Amino acid sequence: MAVILVTGGAGYIGSHACKALAAAGHTPVTYDNLRNGWRDAVQFGPLEEGDLLDTERLIEVMKEHKPEAVMHFAALIEVGVSVSEPDAFWRNNVSGTLSLLDAMVATGVRKIVFSSTCAVNGDQDGVMLDESSGFAPASPYAASKFAVEHMLHDYGVAFGIRHLAFRYFNVAGADDQARIGEHHRPETHLIPLILDAIEGKREALSVFGQDYPTRDGTCVRDYVHVEDLADAHIKGLAYLDKDTRVPVLTLGTGEGFTVREVMQAAAEATGKPVPAFDAPRRAGDPASLVCGSKLAAQELGWTPDRSNLKRMIEDAYRWHQQGHYDA
Ligand code: UDP
Repeated sequence: MAVILVTGGAGYIGSHACKALAAAGHTPVTYDNLRNGWRDAVQFGPLEEGDLLDTERLIEVMKEHKPEAVMHFAALIEVGVSVSEPDAFWRNNVSGTLSLLDAMVATGVRKIVFSSTCAVNGDQDGVMLDESSGFAPASPYAASKFAVEHMLHDYGVAFGIRHLAFRYFNVAGADDQARIGEHHRPETHLIPLILDAIEGKREALSVFGQDYPTRDGTCVRDYVHVEDLADAHIKGLAYLDKDTRVPVLTLGTGEGFTVREVMQAAAEATGKPVPAFDAPRRAGDPASLVCGSKLAAQELGWTPDRSNLKRMIEDAYRWHQQGHYDA
């Protein structure tokens, strides 16, 4: 069993990856600057505090723990913020990954699984995306992830670093025991905001846009259970040992839900109405984003078994009611 360095292991997806790694018998070492992550989310292995841009610190941590591979989640993720603060996104996501890869080269760590995004493909008029889709990164966030995919390729050619990038869209759900879950500050994501509105923790949900060319006029998104994603990352690690590999896999259910369908599912799962009002479109929101996972099924044997909307909302609701981070 192996030591795996998990950047962003104190965040939402990273912490679930740590849980899955520990369950598979590995030791996840979280590397996180705790700016957007939570100390309390690090429950399945040691925490090493540090910044991605601090190459010396990364080298120190890699020398101490001797990881066999890296899972790289640490990144700035808010698309809207990336438009007004591109400098922060290029610095953290791109220069930060450069620093990480340099530390890997310096210490002989040769495998990395990277969290990319289907946003590299941009809005393709609602067509189901996959690995062969064209590219149209529409924000500094998407461009920064796209740049990293190129960087991984180049470091692979020159320095023998094996990599696998996963592209996906919306992530939902939580640990079934509510030990870890989704918690952003500030929160901007649909399902946690719906649950907050249901619980009266904030005012009614704003439904952004009612005139999109979709079933009911609200945006369609493809939601994947965070534990399915964690599972893909575990399978991805083993995949890196194969001789023939594809470098990128999309992870989606191939099925999308509108904002109103998610609200309806939340009302059914919780037995409570969702207070909501119609609001203008949010800048930068494409009408429909859905991606498939045929190649991931073929290459990894991965299928999004837990990514049922009702189940994702139930798991998120349990976390919402029982779980919390103090630090
Ligand atoms: N959304 C909404 N109200 C909110 C937050 C989100 O109507 O307060 C919509 C948003 O326009 C998008 C969908 O919910 O169509 C999912 O948004 P989220 O921010 O969760 O994820 P994104 O798709 O932007 O990555």
